[in-house]
Amino acid sequence: MLEAYNQHVQERALKNLPPKPLTAEQTEELITSLVSGGRDDKNTLIQLLTHCVLPGVDPAAKLKAEFLYRLIKDENPASVITPQQAIKLLGTMQGGYNIQPLIDLLDKPEWAGSAAEQLSTTILIFEKFKNIEEKAEQGNVWAQKVIQSWANAEWFIRRPELPEKITLNVFKVTGETNTDDLSPAPEAWSRPDIPLHALSMLSNLRDGVQPDEPGCRGPIQQLAQLKKEGYPLVYVGDVVGTGSSRKSATNSILWHIGNDIPWVPNKRSGGFVFGRNIAPIFFNTLEDSGAFPVEMDVSGLETGMLIDLYPYQGEVRESASQRLITSFTLKTDVLLDEVRAGGRIPLIIGRSLTAKARESLKLAPSNVFRQPKAPAPSAAGFTLAQKIVGRACGVEGIRPGQYCEPKVSTVGSQDTTGGMTRDELTDLACLSFSADLVMQSFCHTSAYPKPVDVKLHETLPDFISRRNGIALKPGDGIIHSWLNRMLIPDTVGTGADSHTRFPLGISFPGGSGLVAFAAATGIMPLDMPESVLVRFSGEMQKGITLRDLVHAIPFYAIRQGLLTVEKKNKINVFSGRILEIEGLGMLKAEQAFELADASAERSAAACVLRLEEENVAEYLRSNAALLRWMIRQGYENSATLERRIAEIEAWLANPSLMVADKNAEYAAVIDIDLAEITEPIVCAPNDPDDARLLSEVANSPVDEVFIGSCMTNIGHFRAAGKIIADASEIPTRLWLAPPTKMDAQQLSKEGYFNQFIKSGARIEPAGCSLCMGNQARVRQGSHVVSTSTRNFPNRLGTNANVFLASAELSAVAAILGKMPTVEQYFWYMDKINSTRDDTYRYLNFDRLPEYQSTLNEAGVIKRFPDQVF
Ligand code: SF4
Repeated sequence: MLEAYNQHVQERALKNLPPKPLTAEQTEELITSLVSGGRDDKNTLIQLLTHCVLPGVDPAAKLKAEFLYRLIKDENPASVITPQQAIKLLGTMQGGYNIQPLIDLLDKPEWAGSAAEQLSTTILIFEKFKNIEEKAEQGNVWAQKVIQSWANAEWFIRRPELPEKITLNVFKVTGETNTDDLSPAPEAWSRPDIPLHALSMLSNLRDGVQPDEPGCRGPIQQLAQLKKEGYPLVYVGDVVGTGSSRKSATNSILWHIGNDIPWVPNKRSGGFVFGRNIAPIFFNTLEDSGAFPVEMDVSGLETGMLIDLYPYQGEVRESASQRLITSFTLKTDVLLDEVRAGGRIPLIIGRSLTAKARESLKLAPSNVFRQPKAPAPSAAGFTLAQKIVGRACGVEGIRPGQYCEPKVSTVGSQDTTGGMTRDELTDLACLSFSADLVMQSFCHTSAYPKPVDVKLHETLPDFISRRNGIALKPGDGIIHSWLNRMLIPDTVGTGADSHTRFPLGISFPGGSGLVAFAAATGIMPLDMPESVLVRFSGEMQKGITLRDLVHAIPFYAIRQGLLTVEKKNKINVFSGRILEIEGLGMLKAEQAFELADASAERSAAACVLRLEEENVAEYLRSNAALLRWMIRQGYENSATLERRIAEIEAWLANPSLMVADKNAEYAAVIDIDLAEITEPIVCAPNDPDDARLLSEVANSPVDEVFIGSCMTNIGHFRAAGKIIADASEIPTRLWLAPPTKMDAQQLSKEGYFNQFIKSGARIEPAGCSLCMGNQARVRQGSHVVSTSTRNFPNRLGTNANVFLASAELSAVAAILGKMPTVEQYFWYMDKINSTRDDTYRYLNFDRLPEYQSTLNEAGVIKRFPDQVF
């Protein structure tokens, strides 16, 4: 084992990477070697066991904990590891499989003191708290000491505070850095291998950044050169983390600038990130990871500058001269506690353990921790979002700025973050989900998987379903198109995909750390954001699509001076706020999602829509039928599916939806008169905020067209099919990717695929396809029209220029090889105006026979796995 492992170490070292953590098999072999004795490499093996096994509930950790506990029970003084050392090692394992042995040792007088010492600094205790509390109540003095230690927050107090002054070396990335720059989508497969994935950070050429190999390998040498000065690096940017919460982006930054975590292989924490603007959900992910993110004026900072950070005074000074460069105010002082605790998540878990221990001892709440500031009292009403979150917290409403921990009913995870979420769940010692429903999809990697993806497809479903989650299958389709089918109105959820935005209820997407926390504990930390109201009125004009309304939001915000396209001193009223949409009550849930989904592009924290009960009931009846079909198809975990069906039925039995109070307050209100929108609105290359009228971009060349992504539903494909119907060979490369296998099945049945193929289109398997750009990509430098969510530079293809537009406009552009004029667009739209009801007909599973009877299902099932498009 050691020989093979040493070879692996050498191979990784050649790439400047540390070895991977030990697998369960390697750990087992290592233990066997240690037990067999007589080896002169004993110390090397002990080092590996100590530092190279993942903590928590990793299978290797289970073997390690069992082995160590055996050694303690055997009490063999000649053992390779003494019982005393073994207890210490158990104490380094953070939580999970090491906890019960330590609890049992509290009853062994000779080891109880050491075990109590280790438990005192462990916070991932969860339900095992009861066991220790019981022992304490029965008079076990060591258990009493542990509870007292937790009550005194010794786990926190013993950790060092941030120093008064920290000297840092600046690494500055000018302009806007989105999370694709930090964690490129084409390298998504390597995200769980943090050191490897970090090599691709900032691999595209940009001002001041010198990638080792442009397009492949980031500025590793440049960073190494800066580190030679001997000071920690601070990552500085103008606009940092736009686009998503992406934990892998945080992992990559922290791999380069953070600190090793004792006993945890290949992961770093801490680190300093300064930005004039840090995208709010990315800010949260940094907080979760123990980093110190600060928004400040960064214009005086340049790469290579040595600076002194004074975190308590809120100042940054030039190190040599002590000249004041800039000053700042922390978003919240709680940040100082978060860094001390190793991150926002450890702080929340630890605080709750301390609170539980104090309650058990009948002590007043601890005053060790900094408290978030409560918002000023208000007599205003509550917005819809404030009411939904309020209900999840057991109160009428939550005011903006208030810290809360809403109950999470639905959690989504997709495959390019799934590996990281799994690792975070393992770190959190989670063996069973407390959130009501957790769903895992494989939409980002199933079409053209790499071997590493295939391994994930094979192993992750079992990991999820064993913890009571629901695992989809590769080829099923896009996360949101499925997760939306599992929602309960007026509840709160989250997901490790920035587009986890619910058409019903509200979702606050987060990084995989936060999502793992929410899945494991059933709650999520939230500083309630303010809301921006977008209020539609008037009548929608003929030929105008919902996608045009999606783009109307930035278009009108720009007009009102609430949004700027220019990155320098960018204004974005939506950033970090909740987008609340009213005035489109006629929307079906499928349509509502198009608007909610795009709130990610506005950098909004979340989105809620006011819908009519009748439309929601129709959607839920259909969803219950789909979930029943899933159970019959053998999807796991069936008990969770059954519970969700029961919850849906309970809502249907007594349907009611919350509405905003009339006197609710909003940070801004944007009024949009539908009658004013008389031509399509698109987003110009390469910025989803750059909303323009079609007439401004007509005749722009188009080489490739993509119709797909979670922004689409079956209606969009029928519309495109009807527009393209008479075109024989189209001059563009047209890509079509239905969101789910059910959509693909239905479209194929209705003859649309046959028609698309005749026009020369390329039909992709159900899933994210080009939208993610991690597998198939458009040609370098091509001109593209896409229905996908975002057109950040290089996302769909290297140096591609991408317009975002409706499926209908995209289809017209595909036929013409250019952006149409307004007249041309409406001429084509006339083809579908007379058959609107047939075109925009959604999948009502409760009315589709093949989802009703087991007989017909056999036909449906048989076709999906072998379907080749
Ligand atoms: S379709 Fe695009 S935006 Fe939607 S989940 Fe997939 S990659 Fe994300």
